[in-house]
Amino acid sequence: MTTNNISDLQARFDALKAQNLNLDMTRGKPAPEQLDLANAMLTIVDADSARSEAGTDCRNYGVVDGLPAAKAFFGEFLEAPAEQVFIGGNASLTLMHNTVMRAMLFGVPGSPRPWCKEPVVRWLCPVPGYDRHFNICREMGMEMISVPMNDEGPDMDRVAALAASDETIKGIWCVPKYSNPTGITYSDAVVDRLASMKTAAPDFRILWDNAYAHHPLYAENDSVKNILTACDAAGNPDRVYHFGSTSKITFAGSGVSAVATSPANHADLIKHVKMETIGHDKLNQLRHLRFLKDMDGLKQHMQKHADIMRPKFEKVVAILERDLADTPGVRWTTPRGGYFITLETAPGTAKRVVELAASLGVKLTPAGATHPNGHDPEDRTIRIAPSLPSLPAIEQATTVMALCVKLATAEKG
Ligand code: PMP
Repeated sequence: MTTNNISDLQARFDALKAQNLNLDMTRGKPAPEQLDLANAMLTIVDADSARSEAGTDCRNYGVVDGLPAAKAFFGEFLEAPAEQVFIGGNASLTLMHNTVMRAMLFGVPGSPRPWCKEPVVRWLCPVPGYDRHFNICREMGMEMISVPMNDEGPDMDRVAALAASDETIKGIWCVPKYSNPTGITYSDAVVDRLASMKTAAPDFRILWDNAYAHHPLYAENDSVKNILTACDAAGNPDRVYHFGSTSKITFAGSGVSAVATSPANHADLIKHVKMETIGHDKLNQLRHLRFLKDMDGLKQHMQKHADIMRPKFEKVVAILERDLADTPGVRWTTPRGGYFITLETAPGTAKRVVELAASLGVKLTPAGATHPNGHDPEDRTIRIAPSLPSLPAIEQATTVMALCVKLATAEKG
């Protein structure tokens, strides 16, 4: 039974302490069974089959922008022409980091000067958002401007007003589908406004991190309007870099990343990448092509992931509904894809919830991680990552977390 009486809650808390739990819901890592789904990739390329279907010896140097078959595959994956696709290494985060770093050092097509020569570079950060995006901005010395996320994407009135009025604002982070961490998907209207809005900076960039484009939890997948074609149609062809990877499709540590962008941005990227590598890992590209085959193969594979993830998400939501429906100021998202659920606690209690849960042996993502510089001004956002733990562990961890939410709320009075 649920109760909001502080001494009852405290008694339940003390009882749980004796259980010496050790549960981790901090990061969106795939569970071992999800990784097992791709084990065939470990043997799909061997000494006798290391040439691509077009005859390239994938063991050797070369092919700086990726095997043509990989570019064709990722063209469909990112909904872009193959010739505008660049294939990177194992992490799209590297592509994003290096895109920003190169812009700082050299600028991008259309930049009056390298960004590091500007007195200040500001960046729009929809919140709650992805901590590793914010870390990139912080490392580059950018000033982050938070803009609220709504159910359809970032608050576009704020984004458009800021971008139009401040030439030091050089871009925005976007996770357009099953967003990290709220799980929402951008509406067509948001995509159109991002593509067509006036920007004071001539070299404004959208970093479109479509990390969960192919990660529905159910049979049907959300769809997002094509940002590259929307930018093109609006006369801003160079505005966007569209990133993706197979990290949460095959092996999180050994996926293939890709970026699709305009011909001008693509040529600029290749010019710089040539200085850093003679070519990325073609054997891994070949493994992926042979294993996933095509987008139909990928979709079928992702349903196997969904079958593992869906019960975990549903379990979290069921427990939140069971235990927190009557707790004031608390709400949560019910995503239909992606890797995260966002829990909003009563203002001023998120840090305390995470601290209480930790003292019971349940590790949650640090409160504040969803905001620039680790600071959630309202201290109410908690990112829940249900993928890694087993279903029984999820049940225990979420029950503990819900108790900690009630206790922290009751402590606040
Ligand atoms: N972007 C987002 C929004 C993510 O949530 C993650 C993984 N947590 C990544 C990027 C990392 O992607 P990759 O493995 O391709 O670097």
